[in-house]
Amino acid sequence: MTLRFHNTLTRREEAFEPLRPGEVRLYTCGPTVYDHAHIGNFRTYLWEDLLRRHLKLRGHRVTQVMNLTDVDDKTIANARSAGLTLEDYTRRYIDAFFEDLDALGIERAEHYPRATAFIPEIVRLVQRLLQKGHVYESRGSFYFKISSFPHYGRLSRLDAASGAGQSRIDSDEYDKDNPRDFAVWKAPRDGEPFWQTEIGPGRPGWHMECSAMSMHLLGETFDIHTGGVDNIFPHHENEIAQSEAATGKPFVRYWMHAAHLIVDGEKMSKSKGNYLTLRDLAARGYDMRAIRFMLLSVHYRKPLNFTFEGLSQAQAALTRLDDLAGRIEQAAAGLQGEGGALAATAGERLRGMLADLDSDLNTAGALGHLFELVREIHSALDSGQFGRRDLEAVREVLGAFASVFGIRPGQRVDLDAEIESAIRRRSEARARRDFDEADRIRDDLLGHGIVLEDTPQGVRWKRKSA
Ligand code: AMP
Ligand code: ZN
Repeated sequence: MTLRFHNTLTRREEAFEPLRPGEVRLYTCGPTVYDHAHIGNFRTYLWEDLLRRHLKLRGHRVTQVMNLTDVDDKTIANARSAGLTLEDYTRRYIDAFFEDLDALGIERAEHYPRATAFIPEIVRLVQRLLQKGHVYESRGSFYFKISSFPHYGRLSRLDAASGAGQSRIDSDEYDKDNPRDFAVWKAPRDGEPFWQTEIGPGRPGWHMECSAMSMHLLGETFDIHTGGVDNIFPHHENEIAQSEAATGKPFVRYWMHAAHLIVDGEKMSKSKGNYLTLRDLAARGYDMRAIRFMLLSVHYRKPLNFTFEGLSQAQAALTRLDDLAGRIEQAAAGLQGEGGALAATAGERLRGMLADLDSDLNTAGALGHLFELVREIHSALDSGQFGRRDLEAVREVLGAFASVFGIRPGQRVDLDAEIESAIRRRSEARARRDFDEADRIRDDLLGHGIVLEDTPQGVRWKRKSA
């Protein structure tokens, strides 16, 4: 078994081996916590979750870091208009982000460093670059001198001198030698938060944050760095320049990027206003598992067009899996002998599924094998040829699917149990007259598309219909 990943650096699929055998060090660019993440962001985070899960299934230990950008122009501006400190403001969205991760069944990374907690490391990296002449100061801000790093542009394949592809320019950049030079440290502006440091007062640039935190937590050379394709330039190009200029070592061995979630031909984004959050979809009655399934069903390097019809199809596919799981469990109670014919087919399907995932995480191919097997299981059950070995083999395939896709067929039952337990906690809160807590639980359930009805017979719940 060899894993093969498409490396943006070489634009090729390459065999993947971690630098330290058995341990994969993975850095995934995280959210700027100024608002709720949208499902476009979650396409990227879910694919990264699948990558992590597949690496683990294939026997690797994974150390994953995801940064939380809790200081930038947007967080500062929004905190100010909300009349909150930066910390109080961002904490809300950090909490909301983790709630969303849980709702989608995304496994926790090992580290979630916040930029504001890494100021000393960031300053040290700026100092290192200053000493080597890659960074210069101008009116209290510090800039990376692109002309000092000959490999600039290798990842994005852009010509540094031409200025082409300048897609995301920091709005607060003052005096630079070259317009392409980028800020690694920003001088304070009126009324904005800043840190007093050895290089003077100010706050970190976004790119710097990722270089400093990734190298601090994962080492100066690590295995995989991911993000959406919009991160390739300038964010990841700049991370490479800062990190390699400072250490003289290769920064990252495999760069992987996910294509975008698209709406009517355009990237889903906050600025275009064409976005949906998990809360929006839950309020319309959609199941988080269906969102997860939909976002993972297309290969990560292909753009995925969002439609409600697509989401309903995902829901229908999941229902087929849930129904199948129910039927299998019923059959398990009355097995017909040893069996074995279906077991052999299931083994083949499992090999096909894993081979597709090994090959640059081809989820669409893997699901193809799974749904072939769904048909085959039904026909084995229809014809009464479902024995003990068949059951074991089928469970193994569904188990592998569950561990990589993070969706357990038949799991709806567990979800129902969670809802029942939330309802119990709400009734207890009401009994002790803690109405705030009771309302919070009710709103939380509503946020997940669950409506409560207080009836004389007790509390009933139903899913909001889509
Ligand atoms: P941002 O908060 O814009 O830095 O985005 C956080 C992560 O979500 C980055 O990895 C982006 O590349 C990714 N992302 C943003 N918009 C989309 C989208 N429409 N589809 C897929 N990924 C996205
Ligand atoms: Zn980053």
